[in-house]
Amino acid sequence: MGAIILDGSKKADEIKYELSNRIESLKSSTGSVPRLVALQIDEGGAFSVYANSQKKIADAINMDYELVKLAASVSEEDLIEKIIQLNKDENVTGVILQSPLSDGFDIIKITSFISSDKDVEGISPENKGKLLLNAYKVVPPTASAAMELINLCGIDLYGKEAVIIGHSSIVGKPLAMLLLDKLATVTVCHIATNDSGNLIEHISRAEVLIVAVGKARIVKGDWIKEGAIVIDIGINRVDGKIVGDVDFDKASKKASYITPVPGGVGPLTTTMLMRNCVELFQKQKGIR
Ligand code: NAD
Repeated sequence: MGAIILDGSKKADEIKYELSNRIESLKSSTGSVPRLVALQIDEGGAFSVYANSQKKIADAINMDYELVKLAASVSEEDLIEKIIQLNKDENVTGVILQSPLSDGFDIIKITSFISSDKDVEGISPENKGKLLLNAYKVVPPTASAAMELINLCGIDLYGKEAVIIGHSSIVGKPLAMLLLDKLATVTVCHIATNDSGNLIEHISRAEVLIVAVGKARIVKGDWIKEGAIVIDIGINRVDGKIVGDVDFDKASKKASYITPVPGGVGPLTTTMLMRNCVELFQKQKGIR
């Protein structure tokens, strides 16, 4: 029997509906709505795909969204100065730093200036540290999108073998913390796991498998444990089509639940970013 498809677009629509109702009632009680400001260094390319989709979702839920473009020549000091201004502006709820930033910028230094109260992406060192302590204000959106989809499967993660492939600070590491908090047994694999020849062994015992590598169909269907939940975060362009890191066709014959790419984690991620902004707004206004 084939796996049940975890439909990220449908889940995103449900959350957007809930957020638009919440924003309407926040507007009645506070007279204002959350306002998200995205900082983007203008490197001459087209209007960012990310910014487009952020604006579309913000519009759909009646939240304010502003894209601030900074010249390609902007210095680190000027970027930090802009962040400090936004931190002080009471009309700004959340700040996003559109990534990736070019190599010349010290990302840890820059993100440490984003107020943890306005850090909608959960990337400031303070918020990352709080995730370790299970005392976070918000979680990086891709990680929370993956958790939402796992929740749809209705399983208790207690004692489950959860294997994450990819240890980036915005996806793999935060997910490891979230799964540990649910008392799953968590293994985090990465390039060295592959190079040492141990990747397949880890994948084949995963009851929950999360893949965030960025290499098309690197995880083969026959490596997957029968009945596993498979969350594919990878986004890769192959012959003009978007595909994930997992060989979907074969994996969906063995998994019990699986995310498609596109249509799984991707559409949910920006919605989770907006949810973070609404939650920070409530905290800033002292509303539970
Ligand atoms: P990254 O480049 O920061 O990290 C990649 C990880 O994969 C590292 O841990 C690396 O060691 C590991 N890796 C590389 N080759 C490997 C191999 N052969 N075997 C095992 N591990 C290997 O990537 P990232 O920023 O975490 O993104 C990963 C993927 O997720 C990308 O495709 C990216 O586009 C996608 N992504 C999707 C969303 C979304 O909303 N759906 C959000 C963020 C990232």
